[in-house]
Amino acid sequence: MLREDKIHPEYGGNKWRKLYYNLLKAKQLGHDTLLTFGGAWSNHIAATAAACRDEGLKSIGVIRGEEPLVYSDTLAFAKSCGMQFFFVDRASYREKNNDYFKQWLHDQLGRFYLIPEGGSNYLGVQGCMEIIGNVHADFDYIACAAGTGATAAGISLSLKSHQKLLVFPALKGGEFMAEEILTYRAYALGTTEESGPRNFEILSDYHFGGYAKTTPELIAFIRAFYRSTHIKLDPVYTGKMMFGLDDVLKKKMLPPDSKILALHSGGLQGIPGIEKRIGENLFL
Ligand SMILES: *Cc1c(COP(=O)(O)O)cnc(C)c1O
Repeated sequence: MLREDKIHPEYGGNKWRKLYYNLLKAKQLGHDTLLTFGGAWSNHIAATAAACRDEGLKSIGVIRGEEPLVYSDTLAFAKSCGMQFFFVDRASYREKNNDYFKQWLHDQLGRFYLIPEGGSNYLGVQGCMEIIGNVHADFDYIACAAGTGATAAGISLSLKSHQKLLVFPALKGGEFMAEEILTYRAYALGTTEESGPRNFEILSDYHFGGYAKTTPELIAFIRAFYRSTHIKLDPVYTGKMMFGLDDVLKKKMLPPDSKILALHSGGLQGIPGIEKRIGENLFL
């Protein structure tokens, strides 16, 4: 397992990879404020808030939904890092990638460097191309969880010709994931055409009902994995990926003696919120 969650206790994982070149770019362009988008439990909101605090930048989080009476753990953490919130109703939030919505935000909030939801722009993909850069062990397969597909795109662009990426979407509708990954790859390469081999496979049966949905079976798996490895997985992304990878192995879908690397993409900041929702502690 590639422990990218260990890069940093607060913003370890793929969100740091996606922020890295964006932070550099924002500084190069002389910005002092970053603005980004997310829900009340977003790993990306938490990572952006903490990274901006450490880099001496101001941060604004455009948060989906009405301002809650009691902040989620994620929002409370982001606020403690100095992030300023701008709550927008769900209908407006869906407009977040439209130019007129961005202009409206600029009118309200002034000058800022904008990072899209999840940190998934071409600089985010370029950051994810470095995920396997320090892996010296050879492997045949690498497994990762996917939300937008930007992380998967970065990894797939950096594989050697004999290596293959197994992508486990964390949400329903995983059939679209291949197209998303190809689009992100093209962005990162600055082309509009499909380039490079389709060196990835989408395993879309492990979403457990949809984004951030859990089942007792998934929770039991995460607990058992922790008991045997002392590695914490999160129920939104890495837990579903490892469950799926375990199932793929049980079903002998990969050739015997394959060397498999699983990416731990972080996400542990969200665990207190999930524990509150399911009413029990995950790691006993
Ligand atoms: C955001 C996130 C992902 C998904 O990354 P994408 O680039 O959006 O596909 C995977 N794992 C964790 C822990 C995340 O926080």
